[in-house]
Amino acid sequence: MTGRWKSRLYTLGLAGVFLLALAVGPRPARPAVPARPVQQSGDGLLAGRVILVDAGHGGIDGGARAKDSGVWEKEINLQVAKALKSALEKSGAQVIMTREEDTQYSENKRKDLSARLDLARQGGADMVVSIHMNEYRSRRESGPQVFYRAGQESSRLLAGCLQSALIQALEPAKKRAAMAGDYFILSLDVPSVLVECGFLSNAGEEKLLLTAEYQQKTAQAIHDGIAEYFALTGEEAGPALSPRQNTLAKQ
Ligand SMILES: [Zn+2]
Repeated sequence: MTGRWKSRLYTLGLAGVFLLALAVGPRPARPAVPARPVQQSGDGLLAGRVILVDAGHGGIDGGARAKDSGVWEKEINLQVAKALKSALEKSGAQVIMTREEDTQYSENKRKDLSARLDLARQGGADMVVSIHMNEYRSRRESGPQVFYRAGQESSRLLAGCLQSALIQALEPAKKRAAMAGDYFILSLDVPSVLVECGFLSNAGEEKLLLTAEYQQKTAQAIHDGIAEYFALTGEEAGPALSPRQNTLAKQ
């Protein structure tokens, strides 16, 4: 090869590198500052997150009643809520409980729920998770189901994360989808969900829901769904959802 050819090849090589650089283009800059400052309140996945955990019902409001055992929903809600609290705290979250005893804020249902939401507002909660047990006149119905407020995209995404986590962990016979629901406890603007952990009217599910082991498993699944939600949205500055998040939210 002559010196002239060598120099031509060299020039071609340089041009190629230049064109490749143009085609790849500059990498999009990652935001240097996270969307929200991480507080030094603990280590773990959920450090700096403030989560309101609501054990549904309480006091004279027992909620649904298990068909075979006669146990009130409020009691199981509280056990799952307590297990959820400890799982969330282990991951560094700050948890606000609406109740840790068999109590209520008012015998007036709306006032009682308003007082629970006030706790979320006063505590600066990032999220509201309300724990309930379902019932239905047909004893065949079963399976956990998560509800969110229609039109609230962040809550729909959170509900999708929780629904998936519950199905994965509990392997229910009936795999339900997250659904929009009209509940007063879902009326704040932070991501909010109401979790119906299972049906107290279903004999098999009632038995499971009464055991500490299943309550713990349910709480852990809810924790995992919450962690997944924050992992998906942690660096998002705005409420817009990416295509991947949209897909998840539709589950
Ligand atoms: Zn309930």
